[in-house]
Amino acid sequence: MSAQPFTLTIDGEQVAGETTFGVVNPATGSVFAQAPDATRAQLDQSVAAARRAFEGWKKTSVAQRREAMLAFANEVRAQSDSLARLLTTEQGKPLSAANREVRVTAERLEKLAVYEVGDEVLRSDGTSRVVLDYQPMGVVGAIAPWNSPLVLATQITAQALISGNSVIVKPSPFTPLTTLRLGEIAGRTLPRGVFNTLSGGNDLGQWMTEHPGIDKIGFVGSVATGKRVMASAAASNLKRVSLELGGNDAAIVLDDADIDAIAPRLFWSAFVNSGQICMAIKRVFAHEAIAEHLAAALADIARRAKVGDGLDPDVELGPVQNRPQYERVLGLIEDALVRGGRALSGGGALNRPGYFIAPTVITGIREGVRLVDEEQFGPVLPVMTFNTIDEAVQRANATRFGLGASVWSGSPLRAAEVACRLQAGTVWVNAHGGAAADIPFGGFKESGMGRAMGMMGIKSYMEARVLHLPQ
Ligand code: NAD
Repeated sequence: MSAQPFTLTIDGEQVAGETTFGVVNPATGSVFAQAPDATRAQLDQSVAAARRAFEGWKKTSVAQRREAMLAFANEVRAQSDSLARLLTTEQGKPLSAANREVRVTAERLEKLAVYEVGDEVLRSDGTSRVVLDYQPMGVVGAIAPWNSPLVLATQITAQALISGNSVIVKPSPFTPLTTLRLGEIAGRTLPRGVFNTLSGGNDLGQWMTEHPGIDKIGFVGSVATGKRVMASAAASNLKRVSLELGGNDAAIVLDDADIDAIAPRLFWSAFVNSGQICMAIKRVFAHEAIAEHLAAALADIARRAKVGDGLDPDVELGPVQNRPQYERVLGLIEDALVRGGRALSGGGALNRPGYFIAPTVITGIREGVRLVDEEQFGPVLPVMTFNTIDEAVQRANATRFGLGASVWSGSPLRAAEVACRLQAGTVWVNAHGGAAADIPFGGFKESGMGRAMGMMGIKSYMEARVLHLPQ
């Protein structure tokens, strides 16, 4: 696919792995490229390089760091066509979505680079002055998932870089390639050793969390791995952690919602990226007066959605990204159908190579069925009914997740009242999904720890220091 081999970026140099591993195109199910499999020694070299680079980078002004990050962003933009094609080929998402992800990647670098954390004077009483200032932490390990690999890796690193840290970035073994290309760009635009990229298996992630030379882990991924990251980070050197984890977002649709108007928005908030978005709608609670109408409208859109290879410009939904996830989602659908569920659309795999599942809308199930209780992270959506608002709120909140939620109604005020009762890091009215560099994002309960982006995100890559000074 790409003539140039994929390499690690260590201390500003392009470095081969001692061995490589195959990367599969999910639209075909076949290996199309090789990625370097970083060794523990290469992790040690990266940590040493990042520690050296940190000493210089932390002393630069915010304006200098911003300038370097803007140059980095410009170079990402300049390569957007090849990055987007590579992203579609390794991840599966439609090319239009891949182009958007590359654009947002550049924007994250630009928009997170505007932050400057100032000192806060806590006390000034004539005899002493107490000032709170913020220091960079050191070396940040950024560990990213496979659903939006480029933007999520960049989001972590942009926050870390502008606050004066150096970084080691590890993409998912399912989608390492665009991140490796990002490392090459960083190697040309940022000072040596400030930005290192290592691809490898899950064990590489584990080594990073254990490494005493890494001060903080910015992690985006599943709840199960997030818990392992936190345990390992604590056991090694009490690394700081930011955890952005999974969700099981509820959308509550009230009896006065205009179903035909909201159905397309609700559908795409659930099925975009074939449902592989942390903040996708994963459970719908529809008032019993409108539930049938809504489920039929969603199923109708599902049947008409064009599913296929994301490189085909007409395609709206690509494959599931990898075989284990494909098998897991098919298992959830099968289980729901065995337990009384009815598929109004889809219901199984498409008969073609690659990891394709027909967009599936399921009714007739409720809590106690895995598709409702677990995060499906695939193109299948359960639509359930409720009778009273108290019941809907109680059921929406009855989960160990708490990432996002939404309320849909013809009366925004009525919806807002319900929204305020939901336990989630982000709650929308008549919309669902979307993140921005200036708005903190994160989860209640097991959906995460800390908030990404905005000033809250930036400060989470810094240590607060109290200075007691003479007046
Ligand atoms: P995952 O947890 O399996 O893997 C995430 C990353 O962790 C990968 O790079 C993986 O190699 C690495 N890893 C695996 N084991 C590790 C270990 N023991 N120590 C350190 N690193 C390890 O997640 P995934 O399947 O790649 O991604 C899907 C999940 O990510 C979903 O649950 C989704 O909701 C979540 N997600 C959350 C957000 C958010 O912002 N909250 C955004 C996107 C995805």
